[in-house]
Amino acid sequence: MRSAAGDGAAADEPRPGVPAGAGGPEAGPDPLRVGVLSLQGDFERHARTLETLGVEPVRVTAPPDLAGLAALVIPGGESTTMLRLLAATGLRAPLESFVRGHPVLGTCAGLILLARDSGPLPEPTLGVLDVVVERNAYGRQIDSFSDAVEVAPLGGSFPGVFIRAPRIRSVGAGVTVVARHGPEPVGVRQGGVVGLCFHPELTGDLRLHRWFLEEVALLSLPADEPVGPGPGGREPGERPVAGGAR
Ligand code: GLN
Repeated sequence: MRSAAGDGAAADEPRPGVPAGAGGPEAGPDPLRVGVLSLQGDFERHARTLETLGVEPVRVTAPPDLAGLAALVIPGGESTTMLRLLAATGLRAPLESFVRGHPVLGTCAGLILLARDSGPLPEPTLGVLDVVVERNAYGRQIDSFSDAVEVAPLGGSFPGVFIRAPRIRSVGAGVTVVARHGPEPVGVRQGGVVGLCFHPELTGDLRLHRWFLEEVALLSLPADEPVGPGPGGREPGERPVAGGAR
């Protein structure tokens, strides 16, 4: 089923990684409105992180919510549930169109949705990241863990929170590995699409979101937002990110 948000954007959509909205026929996207797919999962923490960085988060639960967004975050949660809800809400087709034309950050279940192949699922994935992902490949909930990951674009380590995380089993030729846990890829980028096995939104460390917004989505954040903390640190004056972990 087509939706209003899917139509209208049509043929001239910007390519991933290219700032949206330079001179569209309509008002064009507001560079500081970024969507968070909010059907299920830890969308609230992503929304608060975006807010802290000076961006207006838009909860996306229905096709019209995609209109005018500069980028989108697909949170962690349960990928099977999210895929079923995408079908039930009519978001599937407009979202497929959106992620082919705009910067997208997917964390954990979000990565599973973006991947070309994530194994058996009730619905096909969105397929915009040329990676093969294995769900729950670190084990069950009890095997969830935190450990430092190396994030090349940040030039250092970042606290990796892995919750029933997927593993990236293979990476296509056009895909750059941006984060590693030991030798293993845990973060990838293909054009404007970024997928992470871990949860930066649960750490209070803003650097990965900031990198995605500034360097991938090419958005200009307000100058007065807080300076990124050191590895794992919560910086002074940063608004605490409230709400329990999923
Ligand atoms: N195990 C979940 C899934 O398969 C992902 C977990 C998460 O997003 N933290 O969808």
